[in-house]
Amino acid sequence: MKAASAGPARMKVSVIGAGVAGLTCAVELAERGVDVEVLERSDALGASACSWQAGGMLAPWCERESAEPLVARLGQEAIGWWADKFPGTVRHGTLVLAHGRDVAELNEFAARTESFERIGRERIAELEPDLAERFGQALFFPSEAHLDPRAALAALAARAQRLGARTRFGADMTPALIRELQSSGRTVLNCTGLAAREALTDLRGVKGEMVVVRIRELSLRRPVRVLHARLPLYVVPREHGLFMVGATMLESDDPGRVSVRSVLELLTAAYALNPMFGEAEVVEIGTGVRPAFLDNLPRLRWRDGVLHVNGFFRHGFLLAPALARMAADVLLRDARFPEVMDEDHRERRRA
Ligand SMILES: Cc1cc2nc3c(=O)[nH]c(=O)nc-3n(C[C@H](O)[C@H](O)[C@H](O)COP(=O)(O)OP(=O)(O)OC[C@H]3O[C@@H](n4cnc5c(N)ncnc54)[C@H](O)[C@@H]3O)c2cc1C
Repeated sequence: MKAASAGPARMKVSVIGAGVAGLTCAVELAERGVDVEVLERSDALGASACSWQAGGMLAPWCERESAEPLVARLGQEAIGWWADKFPGTVRHGTLVLAHGRDVAELNEFAARTESFERIGRERIAELEPDLAERFGQALFFPSEAHLDPRAALAALAARAQRLGARTRFGADMTPALIRELQSSGRTVLNCTGLAAREALTDLRGVKGEMVVVRIRELSLRRPVRVLHARLPLYVVPREHGLFMVGATMLESDDPGRVSVRSVLELLTAAYALNPMFGEAEVVEIGTGVRPAFLDNLPRLRWRDGVLHVNGFFRHGFLLAPALARMAADVLLRDARFPEVMDEDHRERRRA
């Protein structure tokens, strides 16, 4: 991989925020020959990013259960994009299960989604031996994928650096500092998640709580979603016996507090998936606040000459590659994407 050579008209872009949105944009732009710098207010990668808390599921077809068709369509780009950029991308699909009494939930899920196989006890046992005998029916989404978000962010940061992008930590960018960047001839891409609320007044926070546990005796090869009317849950396997158990969805922008009830509910649901989770070590209890617009769809939006890439809701890893491609096309080719740009960007750019 080689950084593109500098030319007289080489565009200079400052990407603010090193979450998944900022880093995908940085890589996409650097790959197209742009002079990129990433400015992150934390002292280390992920220290205050919602992206650090994510499950890392790349599940465009499962997400269709509650998301708009656009999410499934744009999300399908993500699997190949991540597999190309991050060798740790695991393409083993997703398993969706329901306990016997909740089997109606499985039918409802099937009615709202596509690209799955209905499977029975034997096939479940083949796919996930540690769930054998526990479930009689499931939906298998073979084309979905997952990744460890922290490893994936580190890989993106390293890739951006190899392409010549510079990253500065401890850079808390105020409006005045942003104006300085602009007057020095840099284009500014704002990827600060919920922190962009002053400029994007319709952005809201949707809090997600999660638990990471370790149990080496249990093995899952793919994310498992367990349907339940009140307590839906997913478990995403990671390396070294780690499992991320998630996640709540609360209309709140308080990043600090994790309730006993949420932890109890998540761990109870994991225990019901397999009682061996009862023996697991609790490694981490975490929370992140998802940045979301009212329709839960992401946006590219100009404000004061800055292009914002935001509103990823529960789909940051799933949708950032498509939005990064679009953001790069907007900056480099003056392209328009009416489905994710809700105003005439040429007007805004002149602001
Ligand atoms: C529990 C949970 C599970 C999830 N699971 C999944 C999943 O399985 N799949 C999926 O696709 N998505 C998932 N998501 C959603 C995903 O995490 C978010 O959509 C995504 O992280 C949003 O990324 P972002 O880059 O916009 O924001 P962030 O990750 O919050 O990044 C913003 C960055 O900007 C920096 N910043 C802020 N202000 C400034 C400033 N003034 N100057 C400089 N830097 C600044 C912050 O420090 C931060 O690093 C999950 C979310 C949660 C909470």
